[in-house]
Amino acid sequence: MLTPSCNIQAIPVAPGIAIGRVMRIGETPREQPEPVVLAPEMAEPELARFHSALEKTGTQLAGLSDKLKQKLQDDEAGIFDAHILILEDQLLISEVEKGIKQDHFSAEYAVFATIEKFSAVFNGVNDEYLKERALDLRDVGNRILDNLSGVDVAKIAYNEPRIIIASNLTPSETVGLEREFVLGFATETGSATSHTAILARSLKLPAVVGVPKELLDKLTIADKLIVDGFSGKLIVNPDRHTEEAYLLKQREEQKFYFSLNEENNLPPETSDGFRLQLAANLDADQDYNEVKQTAAYGVGLFRTEFIFMDPNQLPDEERQYNIYKKLLVAAGNAPVTIRTIDVGGDKLNTAILRSTEQNPFLGLRGIRLCLREQRELFATQLRALLRAGVHGDLRVMLPMVSSIFEVKETKEIIAKLQQDLAKEGVPCVEKLKLGVMIETPVAAIIAQQLAPEVDFFSIGTNDLIQYTMAVDRSNERVAYLYRPTHPAILHLIRNTVEAAREYNLYVSVCGQMAESVMYTPLLLGLGVHELSMPTASIPVQRRMVRSLERLACEELVQKALQCSNATEVQELVRAMVEKCAPEMLER
Ligand code: PEP
Ligand code: MG
Repeated sequence: MLTPSCNIQAIPVAPGIAIGRVMRIGETPREQPEPVVLAPEMAEPELARFHSALEKTGTQLAGLSDKLKQKLQDDEAGIFDAHILILEDQLLISEVEKGIKQDHFSAEYAVFATIEKFSAVFNGVNDEYLKERALDLRDVGNRILDNLSGVDVAKIAYNEPRIIIASNLTPSETVGLEREFVLGFATETGSATSHTAILARSLKLPAVVGVPKELLDKLTIADKLIVDGFSGKLIVNPDRHTEEAYLLKQREEQKFYFSLNEENNLPPETSDGFRLQLAANLDADQDYNEVKQTAAYGVGLFRTEFIFMDPNQLPDEERQYNIYKKLLVAAGNAPVTIRTIDVGGDKLNTAILRSTEQNPFLGLRGIRLCLREQRELFATQLRALLRAGVHGDLRVMLPMVSSIFEVKETKEIIAKLQQDLAKEGVPCVEKLKLGVMIETPVAAIIAQQLAPEVDFFSIGTNDLIQYTMAVDRSNERVAYLYRPTHPAILHLIRNTVEAAREYNLYVSVCGQMAESVMYTPLLLGLGVHELSMPTASIPVQRRMVRSLERLACEELVQKALQCSNATEVQELVRAMVEKCAPEMLER
C-alpha cells in the first residue's frame, strides 16, 4: 500500500531535482516475525525453504560483488564478499537449522532470532569494528528474510534508478553505491557539510537531510518521491500535476547547466579584471577528465582519507604512489593539492582509529591522529607523495592543524624521508610545497605565526564554522546555528588572508562555502585567491564571479564586518546578488 501523499520541508544539502521510487539502505526497520511454532512434520519443508533462500541470497550477493568489481576495479567491492562469508558461516546456519528442527520455529523466526542473537554478541563488545560487523550481519539476515518472503531484493535494488532513503548514510556506504542506480538521497541525519552530502554533490545527486524518522520508516519500495535539493522540499507520492511541474523544473535546470557549460572557456574574472581561480575538489574515484571539462584550475582538494576507508585493506606505499602519480600526470602543469589523511570526526576507519571517542570531532582527528598514533601510516603516505611529486605540480596540505608544533614535526618527518629516499636513490621532490588547512579557530587566529612555516593556506570552512560556532556540522538539529555568513567567520577569514598577504602566501577556500554562489561576494571581497569545489559547481561559480565587481565586494565586506549577526550579512549579500546576478538567487 502506498504511503499517503504528503509534503515536508527538509534541509537541502545538494542541489537538483530527483524524481523516483524509493530504495532503503542501511539498517532496515523490520517488523519482528511472529514466533510461530509449527507442527513437527513441517520442519523438513521449512528447512528446504531456508536453504533455498540461502542459495538465492548467495547468488544475489555474488552478482552484486561482480557488478561492483567490474565498476570499481578495486577493493570497495569487498563488502559483498564479506557478506558472502557471513552467509556461508556454519555456526550461523546450524543455529537456524536448530531453531527449525528442535524448536519448530518458522524459517523466518529462526533466521530472525539467530541474527539477533549473533549481532547482540558483536554489539556487546566495545569495539567499533565488531559493531560494524553486526550491521553486516543484519544486512545479510534481512536479505535472507526478504528471499523467504519472496521479495526479490536484487530486482528491487537494481531494476531502475532509485532515491536512496536511510536514517544515516555513512561516507563508505555512499562511496559503495552503484551510481547509475541512484537518483538522489533523503536521510534523517546529516547536514550540508557532512561528508555524505559532500559526496552527493560531487556525484551530482540531489539530496536532503532532516527527514523525520516517522516518515522514513513508513516509506516502502512502491512509494515515489520528489527530492528538491534546492528548496529542501520532499514530496511523497506526488499528484500528476505536481510531478509534471517538477519534471519541467528539472528540464529547465538541465538547460541552465547546459548553457553554463558553454561558458567553460571564459576566464573566471570579475568585471574589474580580478581572476579568482576555480579549482576542483576531487574524490578518489573521480576521473581527472571532469576537471578538464570544466576548465578548472587543477585540484584544490583531494581528500585522501577516502582511499583509506576499507578497514580490511589499507593502501600501501606503492598503491598510493600510483594513485597520486596518475592524478599528477593527468593534471600536467596544473596544481594538484593533496591533503594528508583526515580520518576521525565522521570519517571513521576502524583499522586506523580503533578506540571510540566521546567527541570524535574534537578528538584524535587528521594531523593529530597521524602524529600521535599513526606515524608509520603517515610516513608511508608522505613517502608516496614525495615520490609522486616529481610527476607534476604537487602541493601537500595538513588537515585539522591546531598548533605550530604539528607543522614543525611534520616538516621534520618530511626532511627525514627526503634523506632516506635520496640515500636509496629514489627520485623525490626536493622542495615540497606544504600548506595547512585553516579549519580550527586557533589556526585562523595564529595564522601570522603559521604563515612563515608554510607555502599556502587552504581555508576549510566546513570545520572552521563548526568549531567557531560550536555546532556539530552533521547534526541537523543545530543546523540553524551553522551560519557561514556570521561576522565571526568573516573576521577569522580576514585574519588568515592578512597574515598570508604579509608572507606572500596563496589562499584557497575548499569548504562548502566555496561552492555556494551566495557566499562568493564575501570570499572575493575578503581577498582569497582560489575557491575549490566539486566539479559540478564550477560552471555556475564561474558565471557568478563574472557577474561581480571586486571593488564592490570589498566594500560589501567592510560593511559585513561591522554587522552583529549572520542574518544582517546575508541580507547585504542578497541585495548585491539581486542586483548583479538575480538568476543565482535560488541557487
Ligand atoms: C573543511 O573542513 O572545510 C574541509 C574542506 O574539509 P572536510 O570537509 O573534509 O572536513
Ligand atoms: Mg575539514
